[in-house]
Amino acid sequence: MRQDFTASLTESDPEMAEAIAGELHRQQDQIELIASENLVSRAVLEAHGSVLTNKTVEGLPGKRYYGGAEFADKIEMLAIERAKRLFGCGFANVQPHSGSQANQAVYLALLKPGDAILSMRTSAGGHLSHGHPANASAKTYTIHSYGVSAKDERIDYGEVAALARQHKPKLLIAGGSAYPRQIDFAVLRQIADEAGATFMVDIAHFAGLVTTGLHPHPFPHAHVVTTTTYKSLRGARGGIVLTDDAALAKKIDSAVFPGVQGSVLLHLVAGKAVCLREALKPSFAAYQRAALENAQALAQSVAAQGLRLVSGGTDTTLMLVDLGAKGIGGQRASESLEAAGLTVNKNVIPNDTRPATDPSGLRLSSNAGTARGFGEAEFRQIGQWIGRVLDGLARQANDNAATERTVRADVARLCRKFPIYQ
Ligand SMILES: *Cc1c(COP(=O)(O)O)cnc(C)c1O
Repeated sequence: MRQDFTASLTESDPEMAEAIAGELHRQQDQIELIASENLVSRAVLEAHGSVLTNKTVEGLPGKRYYGGAEFADKIEMLAIERAKRLFGCGFANVQPHSGSQANQAVYLALLKPGDAILSMRTSAGGHLSHGHPANASAKTYTIHSYGVSAKDERIDYGEVAALARQHKPKLLIAGGSAYPRQIDFAVLRQIADEAGATFMVDIAHFAGLVTTGLHPHPFPHAHVVTTTTYKSLRGARGGIVLTDDAALAKKIDSAVFPGVQGSVLLHLVAGKAVCLREALKPSFAAYQRAALENAQALAQSVAAQGLRLVSGGTDTTLMLVDLGAKGIGGQRASESLEAAGLTVNKNVIPNDTRPATDPSGLRLSSNAGTARGFGEAEFRQIGQWIGRVLDGLARQANDNAATERTVRADVARLCRKFPIYQ
């Protein structure tokens, strides 16, 4: 018994230890371009993998259902205070286990089953949890969706206004997972007010830009803001709900618990608190500025390879690449890029003619590469590598191994110059 308790992971579960080591090496040796990922600091990792996993607490700090919560309260209060300071708002709930659960809690706080939501269509860049037919949101509420204009692949605010007048939604949602452009929160708030809707902004992908002044702030326009902490915020997995409205905050707190969740994942809350403190430092603003510049360098480099960027470019650290010109699908493209050491995800593009399982696009982000220290020169190089792999695929769809091998070797050399987690 005692021996089991004190054995290291390698001693106790070599199979698992080996798999985790494999993942560490994958992260060290590949270039991470997936927009919903980032590389956390050692401090965040330490908080994540701590004894906090042993503690069960329910409810809010000072109002727990279980005892022994002295330090749990301190930890969650740190996270709450830092979130409020970082986002400049009066209330924060830091308990959501994920971004989807943060959104689910907002819906539960504000809506009754059947109520109407107006949100961005998944195929235009919206998130699953905003009303994709397979998601609980669409099974519980009535979803109406807006897309992007065929002309410039940006939100058509006239279309949003018309849909809001037609459907009178209770909730209007802005923000998405694959929308590279800035969003006009002031205009959307006007549309929400006119329809009598609450306005929610989900800043999961661009939270870091918002907190450093590199993207318009959703407050004071939004009634409620949700975010994840593990994408641009470069922190622990999980979600946060923010608002300036005391009455709304109360409803959100009870929607999170006991509404959609049970006990708190305290190790994640600690990890969130640590990343929020990092995000309050000047060095984080420098990181966000670099990520934004790097995204421009990557976008220009990818375009120079003869690839079209959806909407013609990006205002954020995320971009969508249209593979149409190369005549290849996202499935083979992402597989071949992975074999070359470049991790990306396939993604539908607006008005995609291909199926979601093999769509026309790839989604790229500069967040993780910037976290490991890449600058504009490295991102220009990455764009060239992407072009070389895709051109290889276009020439010989079945066997791109030779190109993959040469790019893989170049990628490995670059990764060794920018080591992580040694
Ligand atoms: C990533 C993301 C989420 C949250 O996803 P989880 O996987 O549930 O953490 C929510 N909204 C948007 C817009 C996202 O991009």
